[in-house]
Amino acid sequence: MTALSALTHGAIGILGGTFDPIHLGHLRFAQEVAETLALRSVHFVPGGQPPHRAKPQTAVADRVMMVKLAIADHPMFVLDERETQRTGPSYTFDTLSELRAELGVTCPLVLMMGADAFLGFESWHRWQEIFNLAHIAVAHRPGAALGGMPAPLAQEFAQRRSNDAQAIHRAPAGTIVEVPITALDISATKIRAMVHARRSARYLLPPAVFDYINDKQLFLKDNSKQ
Ligand code: ATP
Repeated sequence: MTALSALTHGAIGILGGTFDPIHLGHLRFAQEVAETLALRSVHFVPGGQPPHRAKPQTAVADRVMMVKLAIADHPMFVLDERETQRTGPSYTFDTLSELRAELGVTCPLVLMMGADAFLGFESWHRWQEIFNLAHIAVAHRPGAALGGMPAPLAQEFAQRRSNDAQAIHRAPAGTIVEVPITALDISATKIRAMVHARRSARYLLPPAVFDYINDKQLFLKDNSKQ
């Protein structure tokens, strides 16, 4: 695709995560940000070896399969497996650099983050250079308000923040927009604990993911040391 056609075809969202497992909190987040920002598509990018957190409980293949099942019927949601196919730590900077090279210099890229993830953004590999590669859409998440940002992040936030969601279409990268979404107090941590305690996680996940977890008996053992 040429740079010009990428621009005409619209902005792309990127939602990275461990997805251990993917749940309705992720899916509503992607849906609502895609609508508010008029995105062309959202790439779901399961992380391989996450540099910022503990190792996932489930195998990469299971996490990828759960994302595949969760987004199977959505015309705008795309599974992007590049981080799980890379060796070494999964850096968002590398993912965005690759997407930028593939989609051209003018295509708006929007990195989507919950407020909890954004508050830790300063610790990400080459975080300030990420603003040259993508916009950031931050969504509030129950239990994670945007207050208390560390100073360098607060400074970037103050300089880059726009109240106009459509600003992301006027440049390929560099703006931060806050996107209000339906607050869903769902986390993968809570779901893992629930399943481990033999309680049902039904209605917190898409039915196909719920069935997959049951069939493969995921999260029943304390396999965090795997
Ligand atoms: P865990 O509980 O294992 O930390 P998680 O539920 O936070 O997992 P991740 O895969 O770590 O899920 O999250 C990927 C991205 O989705 C992060 O930016 C996170 O902030 C965001 N996110 C996850 N759940 C929600 C939710 N319920 N509402 C809004 N954003 C969410």
